[in-house]
Amino acid sequence: MKIEILTIFPGMLESPFRESMIRRAMDRGLVEIEVIDLRSFTTGRHRQVDDAPYGGGRGMIFKPEPLFRAVESLQERGESRARVILLTPQGRTFNQEMARELSREKRLLLICGRYEGVDERVREALVDDEISIGDYILTGGELAAAVVVDAVVRLLPGFLDEESVTEESFSGSLLEYPQYTRPPVFRGMAVPPVLLSGDHAAIARWRRKQALLRTRERRPDLFAKAVLTPEDRRLLEEEL
Ligand code: SAM
Repeated sequence: MKIEILTIFPGMLESPFRESMIRRAMDRGLVEIEVIDLRSFTTGRHRQVDDAPYGGGRGMIFKPEPLFRAVESLQERGESRARVILLTPQGRTFNQEMARELSREKRLLLICGRYEGVDERVREALVDDEISIGDYILTGGELAAAVVVDAVVRLLPGFLDEESVTEESFSGSLLEYPQYTRPPVFRGMAVPPVLLSGDHAAIARWRRKQALLRTRERRPDLFAKAVLTPEDRRLLEEEL
């Protein structure tokens, strides 16, 4: 997969992709990430990317010309057309299902806004998808782009083993069960005995039950969407 990110602050995206497992995915050729300075698509001495909003009001807006020039020339140079995504608080709220959907694309082009946002014509003519990472306002789209890239790259085939991806929170509309590691007792807090039993069937049942209880308690919205098996219902009834 190829991911291109357009920003006026390329430095903000250096460290998230230079460290850790995303770096390893790049080194292994699973993904190529290119951070591109939007200012290199400006004309004029001042390399201006923004201008005042028509109709008045505070703040500045990204002008259409540099973004049109950037997206059009990036689309032309690639072998396949990129899916163009604008990071914006007005977009669809990002979730694991969207990450999975994006992980199937060959090429993504993310646009990071700044100031008061981008000229509406950019949305209308250039953008395929608008994504928000939550109901709050950031100063720019760079951190949102890093979140989307991180969630998408870890789903690329070969990044993690299948089991970790299918067992973790949200994969089946449930939160993950509690996890423990050594020591077996820490400051008087003991690991549930079943996890030390070596009985794999009992461990699987315990984990499923914990995932069900945890989701019902913390995320009733997710729990309402979960498809429960008769065994799940039995595990829940044990609690009553
Ligand atoms: N005035 C804009 C509005 O109300 O929609 C907000 C602009 S915000 C200060 C600047 C930029 O940060 C946006 O263009 C967008 O790229 C990014 N941004 C802010 N909050 C975001 C969020 N929750 N999700 C994704 N991007 C966000």
